[in-house]
Amino acid sequence: MSDFRLGLLGHPLSHSLSPALHNAALQYTGLRGNYRLIDIAPEKFTANSHLSLIDLLPEKLSGFNITIPYKEKIYQLVNEHTKEAIEIGAVNTVKIHPDGKLSGHNTDLFGFQESFLNYLNADLNGKNILLIGAGGAAKAVVAGLKQMEVGKIIVKSRNKDRLSSFIAETKISEQTKNISTQICSVDENNFDPSQISALINASPIGMQEEVLPSWLNDFLDQVPHDCVCFDLVYRKNKAKPAFAYAALQRKLPTIDGLPMLAYQAKEAFRYWTSFDVPAEIFLRALNL
Ligand code: NAP
Repeated sequence: MSDFRLGLLGHPLSHSLSPALHNAALQYTGLRGNYRLIDIAPEKFTANSHLSLIDLLPEKLSGFNITIPYKEKIYQLVNEHTKEAIEIGAVNTVKIHPDGKLSGHNTDLFGFQESFLNYLNADLNGKNILLIGAGGAAKAVVAGLKQMEVGKIIVKSRNKDRLSSFIAETKISEQTKNISTQICSVDENNFDPSQISALINASPIGMQEEVLPSWLNDFLDQVPHDCVCFDLVYRKNKAKPAFAYAALQRKLPTIDGLPMLAYQAKEAFRYWTSFDVPAEIFLRALNL
């Protein structure tokens, strides 16, 4: 069997824990290969076709993950998509076939669902959710919340145009699939923090050691004591990112992004290699 040359494309990547995860899986399976970081700054990211994307990569790879800020961009550049990638409208895992064809998958949905189930396991059926961020990760979260049949997802983000197209895209799939979950932006909805059952951060807020925005601190003070908090952000050495830290200080049921990182890696490794490595291998690689 040939080597699995794998990697992570994104910027910045200094925070990445993905090499530890995939190296643990390679070791567990005995497969030959490696996993490297491919940090390309947005001004240098010139790919506009699948061929130019391959040219941009530093070596001939068998597959790669994609992180902030390229998930939605790569969706346009691959030749075919899995049903999860189509449903979410973003790609975080690409398989490169020997003829150069690229297949795009999204493993964030699996990562979100498995970590929610194993670490929070709250019943959100019919409940109201506040979601921060309107990028690739937020799209996977919306797909997961719809499957839980939550009542309303209220989305808060920074860039108003991006937020509007995010809401419009998710509304189209609501109509076509007859899904009962409603989705709206914060501006369209006068909501009361005491009516929120889950608070999910799918924005980069807290990736650095920054202070949490004051509106979010105030919000956390007003949610019910059983409001679940899911911070997709994670930091090295199990240090808590700002949102998860603030939620834990208020004794709210909380997880950060580490369990999701482990589960999404498990699904990516299966997609590339066909080996279904136990979740424990990935969780242990993160000391969870
Ligand atoms: P992305 O596509 O760049 O989207 C980020 C979104 O957050 C954008 O809508 C952005 O708005 C918004 N945003 C940025 N700063 C904000 C702020 N201060 N207030 C409100 N909204 C803000 O990134 P992504 O791929 O979705 O990733 C988002 C985060 O999730 C990253 O920290 C990533 O590491 C994490 N993540 C974790 C996992 C995991 O397994 N744990 C998986 C996926 C992602 P603009 O358009 O204005 O920039």
